[in-house]
Amino acid sequence: MKPNGKIKLLFATKNQHKVSEVNKIFNSKYFEILSLTDFAGIPDIEETGKTFEENALIKATVIYDKSGIPVIADDSGLAVEQLNGEPGVYSSRYAGEDASDSENNAKLLEKLSGMPKPHKAKFVCAAVYYDGQNKFTVTGELHGEIIGQQRGNNGFGYDPLFVPTGYSKTLAELKPEEKNKISHRAKAFGKLEKILIAKFFDEKE
Ligand code: IMP
Repeated sequence: MKPNGKIKLLFATKNQHKVSEVNKIFNSKYFEILSLTDFAGIPDIEETGKTFEENALIKATVIYDKSGIPVIADDSGLAVEQLNGEPGVYSSRYAGEDASDSENNAKLLEKLSGMPKPHKAKFVCAAVYYDGQNKFTVTGELHGEIIGQQRGNNGFGYDPLFVPTGYSKTLAELKPEEKNKISHRAKAFGKLEKILIAKFFDEKE
């Protein structure tokens, strides 16, 4: 069944960087993306899952139950090979509950100091759509390595320390549109968008 107009999707995040990235990924012909900053009084959701998928599903379910609007949600983070996948689902709170990006980056560098290079790593993003009935889960990955000092001012999180495979710049030195072509989030939400278009608009994008 084709909807009459655009589908409104509530993106279960308050992270404006993520909102801006996902707005560029989703085709505005089909979708209008709202975010939690459009809704007052939604508390932070505790991420109690052990995997990115579990956490994305928790966010999607809680926000759908509160809003009744079809939800997209993601959980993402960095996994470093020499640290057995750390910081993983703890990426945003690696240096403590309310840690800043620079505190998390400093902790990562401290953990890696003395370890042989390259520090192979990947960003992972699990993305979910949930509307009370339909549930779709996809993942995207971006492989690369962690370098010894921060470079660049774009992006967020661990971007200044991450050089994607085949690149010489960090994600924070790339332009936002360049990051958006290769990122774990672009890959996951790109897959999710295709699934939603096929399901609701009966078209292959
Ligand atoms: P989430 O908001 O629970 O998904 O946590 C994501 C955390 O993982 C962020 O706070 C960052 O530390 C890290 N992260 C996820 N995606 C990216 C990215 O694209 N660049 C840099 N760091 C990221």
